[in-house]
Amino acid sequence: MIYKRSSALFSEAQKVIPGGVNSPVRAFNAVGGDPIFVKHAKGAYLYDEDGNTLIDYINSWGPMILGHAFPPVVEAVIQRAKLGTSYGMPTQLETEIAALAVKMVPNIDKIRFVNSGTEACMSAVRLARGFTKRDKIIKFAGCYHGHSDSFLIQAGSGAVTFGTPNSPGVTKGTAKDTLLADYNDLASVKALIEANPNEIACIILEPVAGNMGCIPPADGFLQGLRELCDNNDILLIFDEVMTGFRLAKGGVQELYKVNADIVTFGKVIGGGLPVGAFAAREEIMNYLAPLGPVYQAGTLSGNPLAMAAGLAMLTELDTNPSIFDSLQKKTAYLHTGIAEALTEHEITHTINRVGSMISVHFSETAVTDFKTAALANNKQFKDFFHGMLSEGIYIAPSAFETWFLTDALTYEDLDKTIEACRKVAKKLA
Ligand SMILES: *Cc1c(COP(=O)(O)O)cnc(C)c1O
Repeated sequence: MIYKRSSALFSEAQKVIPGGVNSPVRAFNAVGGDPIFVKHAKGAYLYDEDGNTLIDYINSWGPMILGHAFPPVVEAVIQRAKLGTSYGMPTQLETEIAALAVKMVPNIDKIRFVNSGTEACMSAVRLARGFTKRDKIIKFAGCYHGHSDSFLIQAGSGAVTFGTPNSPGVTKGTAKDTLLADYNDLASVKALIEANPNEIACIILEPVAGNMGCIPPADGFLQGLRELCDNNDILLIFDEVMTGFRLAKGGVQELYKVNADIVTFGKVIGGGLPVGAFAAREEIMNYLAPLGPVYQAGTLSGNPLAMAAGLAMLTELDTNPSIFDSLQKKTAYLHTGIAEALTEHEITHTINRVGSMISVHFSETAVTDFKTAALANNKQFKDFFHGMLSEGIYIAPSAFETWFLTDALTYEDLDKTIEACRKVAKKLA
């Protein structure tokens, strides 16, 4: 495949946009080369500026669960745009999507809409702090909750240390309130709680992790966190920006039968428009302004185009829940096919999968947390990425990202992908 035009466009972009991209994950820094510029997309396919067609396994990092340019979403946005694109006043549309979300997701009474997953997580933590009147939070190494200051914290040595910022611009003052635990390690959480009695407002996590590759919660991990929170008056926040409306109608709370106190959403909930949301039981949500003391706002929050897109998407998922089963089966099929292709050529690998989230780690050890995810063979991943790309398969340009399947994929697409994998594995062997 040729990427002449993409590379030229990238050069132009770099002159006026830092690094040529508006979000760093779009750059190819982790795999080398220039990012591909998209012209348009439909269903499971991307059509790039050089005229190549790619089978898409990123799907805008999750939102396009029913494929690109999904007709009900496109139609909803077009019709709504004709009525005006923003008012800064309430619309009935906001109540409709809120009521639908509250119906689909267990254990929530009220939901507030924002413009991104970052905003949702940032606001959820502020709400938790306001509600509990405590300052500190626990997050897990390798979990991503958007780019607000409190979350850009890396582990020092050992889990029971204060976090140090991993981006300039995050102050030490902010960093000291974020405590780091290890994913799937309840003991690391217990130690932090014991060392900080009555100081921890919330524990926030991706209940199925997707930002260090896909990592499922170990048996009892979510239940254990629930108990620790209950016993210590700590709020449990499930960041379901990635998993919400993807793994099940009601997300991880439904799938693993564990209740969170606050849930955050993004990605699928906006149907491809910029939407985030956070939700909880009434007692907690009533703490938000204008009812309560915790301030949170947004000029474009609940934007009519975004709400129309989100409503069309959620309506489809609500009325046709077999989509989740269909996605699960397609992902399992892909899993089996890829595992066979890699095994045939004796390529060491670990494949993690939950529902329609899957990741291939070139690793001998099980991948259960950030440390084990980081052990994988990065060089092999780079070669795999570029090999797949040359076969017309677009996976995320980083070993730490999950692939997101869309239900627009056919079994023929999946067979093509597995065949591509077989060819690439042969070259890697
Ligand atoms: C993508 C993501 C976010 C951030 O959402 P944005 O819309 O990119 O701000 C937060 N949490 C998780 C789990 C995510 O995957």
